[in-house]
Amino acid sequence: MRKIQKTVMAVVSTAGLVLAAHAMAGTVRQYSQKNSELVPTGKGWGEAALHAARPSGKAKPGSNGISYHGGPLILNGTHVYYIWYGNWSGNTATTILANAASGLSGSPYFNINTTYYNGSGVHVTNAVSLLQTMNDNYSYGTALSDSNVLSVVSNAISSGALPSDSNAVYFVLTSADVNETSGFCTQYCGWHNHASIGGVDIKYAFVGNPDRCPSACEAQSSSSPNNNPGADGMVSIFAHELEEATTDPDLNAWYDNRGYENADKCAWKFGTEYTTSNGSLANMSMGGYNYLIQQNWVNASGGYCALQY
Ligand SMILES: [Zn+2]
Repeated sequence: MRKIQKTVMAVVSTAGLVLAAHAMAGTVRQYSQKNSELVPTGKGWGEAALHAARPSGKAKPGSNGISYHGGPLILNGTHVYYIWYGNWSGNTATTILANAASGLSGSPYFNINTTYYNGSGVHVTNAVSLLQTMNDNYSYGTALSDSNVLSVVSNAISSGALPSDSNAVYFVLTSADVNETSGFCTQYCGWHNHASIGGVDIKYAFVGNPDRCPSACEAQSSSSPNNNPGADGMVSIFAHELEEATTDPDLNAWYDNRGYENADKCAWKFGTEYTTSNGSLANMSMGGYNYLIQQNWVNASGGYCALQY
């Protein structure tokens, strides 16, 4: 997910310039004009399906503003594993994020995802289970590449620290001193992807601590519902990646013709808010905690952003 729309324009125009430069040199492959539909990158924007294999399933015309492309979903409840990367000692984030994961299960908010289904008409289940958490003490230092994030996950599984679970999303949650060098804070606030690890299709996500860049990745930075703006910002990013990884785990299920997945369509829209006792804003209460979490796209009644279904 990303926050600043200006960035979208910058990326598009830069890519356009690069493409134009290469085209003049006659070295770039031409984008097919009729192949104008974009596919998701998992980072909150679409790209032309030039590098990725196009999904084999034909998209059914989406009357709700989002279409099914034939790929699998996580249908029988979404499992969650947290890998706390870096230094989280004494940080209330571990409690705030753990409570958020349990609170989502069965919530009116996560119920929005039950409007998504596979080719047999089986719908997503409104269930989220945080099964295990672990710490990673800077195994790849403080500047992670996308492939480092994958290695953190694959090492956790291959070492036996976490089980191998195809119904799960493994979250790499980095402390504020850690950068993700492919564009954390400038291109995105979090992302999700999948990879084959030990022959199993593993879904995983990156969520950084937005205290690195409050203006880019936190909805509110001076105060927050649980007195931890970084962690409270992470909750919304976590929810975004979780619902996308549930309805589009392999980047070939539910997305629109711009390559936007369900949560991308409602990024940074919060709906009706209320003021909490410390003066910060929230829009839902779960497990005794207040949270400010972005809306998600309802795949019904024409499609719309909402906090509940
Ligand atoms: Zn997204």
